[in-house]
Amino acid sequence: MTTPQTIGVIGAGTMGAGIAQVGALSGLSVVMLDVDEKRVAKGRDAIAGGLERLVKKEKLSAAERDAALGRLRGTTDYGALGEGDFIVEAATEDEALKLKILRQVDAAAKNDAVLATNTSSISITRLAAAMKRPARFVGLHFFNPVPLMSLVEVVRGRTTDDSTVEAAVALAKRLGKTPVVVKDSPGFVVNRLLCPMLNEAVLAYGEGIASAKDIDEAMKLGCNHPIGPLALADLIGLDVLLAVMEVFHREFKDPKYRPAPLLKQMVADGHLGRKSGRGFHTYS
Ligand code: NAD
Repeated sequence: MTTPQTIGVIGAGTMGAGIAQVGALSGLSVVMLDVDEKRVAKGRDAIAGGLERLVKKEKLSAAERDAALGRLRGTTDYGALGEGDFIVEAATEDEALKLKILRQVDAAAKNDAVLATNTSSISITRLAAAMKRPARFVGLHFFNPVPLMSLVEVVRGRTTDDSTVEAAVALAKRLGKTPVVVKDSPGFVVNRLLCPMLNEAVLAYGEGIASAKDIDEAMKLGCNHPIGPLALADLIGLDVLLAVMEVFHREFKDPKYRPAPLLKQMVADGHLGRKSGRGFHTYS
């Protein structure tokens, strides 16, 4: 495949808008698709707001902002993805939904386009099995917030071919990111290591080893972490953390991934962290 000129992004939410923003900023034409005009407009507004902040910080000129916005096109029509050299699916984390979307993308995309998914937890190999060209399918796992986080995990499914991995690595670099190639395995690298650590912090808190504030303080000062594990769990969402631990527990069948009982209880009580105003800390 030649260097991409146009990328397609499916989903204009937190991650899709972030990916579209860095794509447009790096000089690519971007087609961003969502289910209705309202959501497309919301994604576009988020991108305009993100670019505006860069202008205020004098990291971007007004002309560069306008040029980036000019390269961005919102759509609700899958046919528009036919222009994409590289298409990244970043819709809601739901396997049945992703399979439906990917079939539509498959039908609309050019033959030599690379198709990618930003999934955090679904097997790339399993999704690839539903595609017309599984060798051209790869995981491209960005981190939130996309414009600020440098890492992209490039996930090689069992059927992904070398040229597809190379194209994904090249795109990540073009977007100003640092790619790390990983095998398709639950949680890839970052969530595989991070989530059990957060779960362990919940266990320690549940055992009364220290207060939430002190557990966070200890890991900030003792390990130089920018944020404590319980505050990070609150930020990610306790429901999201629980879902990841449940995937690990189910897929690896190893008791070391057992979700902390307190984590389950808090999710059942609706204490989900920042988004519900209460988790290990309280938020106004
Ligand atoms: P989000 O809820 O902010 O956005 C999802 C978007 O997908 C919504 O705008 C929704 O309208 C859209 N969508 C739903 N069905 C669609 C369809 N049929 N066609 C097109 N668009 C559709 O979610 P998000 O946080 O941006 O997550 C998106 C993906 O990125 C998920 O797979 C998630 O696991 C992954 N991810 C999320 C994070 C994170 O921290 N939020 C980090 C890495 C990866």
